[in-house]
Amino acid sequence: MTEKRLEYARRWRAANREKVLASTRKWNTANKEKISAQRKHAYRTGEREKILARSKRWQAANPEKAKESARKSQAKRRDKIRIEQRKWREKNKDYFRAHYAANRDKINARQRERRLRHKDAANEYQRQWRARRNAQDPNYKQKQKETSRVWKAKNKERVRKYKLTSYRRNRQKERERAQKWRKANKQRVLETDRAYRAKNPDLFARRGKKWRAENPERARENVLRWVAAHPARIQAIRSRHRKYKNDARGYCDEDQLKARIAFYNNRCAYCGGPWKAVDHVIPVSKGGTNWPANFRPACAACNSSKKNRDWRKWKPLIF
Ligand SMILES: [Zn+2]
Repeated sequence: MTEKRLEYARRWRAANREKVLASTRKWNTANKEKISAQRKHAYRTGEREKILARSKRWQAANPEKAKESARKSQAKRRDKIRIEQRKWREKNKDYFRAHYAANRDKINARQRERRLRHKDAANEYQRQWRARRNAQDPNYKQKQKETSRVWKAKNKERVRKYKLTSYRRNRQKERERAQKWRKANKQRVLETDRAYRAKNPDLFARRGKKWRAENPERARENVLRWVAAHPARIQAIRSRHRKYKNDARGYCDEDQLKARIAFYNNRCAYCGGPWKAVDHVIPVSKGGTNWPANFRPACAACNSSKKNRDWRKWKPLIF
């Protein structure tokens, strides 16, 4: 009797294959947890080989599907894997550190290559990680900056080397980036340049002199271009000179001038250094005359730093 019924059921299933499959599928989807638990149990209790062989057969028969499913399951497990890895690293800190120190270049190269290969995903992951970090600890950024500053101060040589290799690797890009930055921050560049110049006047004087000696034609052109571009300034300088010539009253001959210089011991009247020029005590532009009493010897530095100021507002006499 039983035999007959089993035979009947078998025959019915063979005849209604589609129906059976659909019903199985429906049951499977409704009982996912149960199946997974059953499989796990079977796997643990000795059916490992059988299950592995079956899944291998299925993988061989459905290569595309298998690949897709593996990718999905890996993505699902990614966070779990990462946590496990982190835990392992925490537990084996010393080993991990030593391993990293011994294989730094290799590990860094591999990581760099991986980041390049998955650029968008890496950026997104980093962004999320940062957001999480900042949410956990609002001062994280500040702390990290401080940590990085201390580390950089301690590892100057390595920072220098890293910057150099990184620059060399991306020379063209770096150059373009710098150019773009300078263009966007013109005012700041100008100010920085000016401050640097003011801080190192000798360096720039030297450099300028050298360049002018090597490029006399271009130096001349530059001067002419500046003159052409600043007509008002030129006009003012010229009129000042003219005023100087025409307005100055008084007269001083050579002997009188020599006597004035001797009166100051042949030294700069302001600092006592060797004299180089004869200075108008009260500038001609301020109403000074060319009478001998208005002349004093001065060194080059005092003469040029005084310019057209009244000496009383500038520097006391030392004689
Ligand atoms: Zn002087």
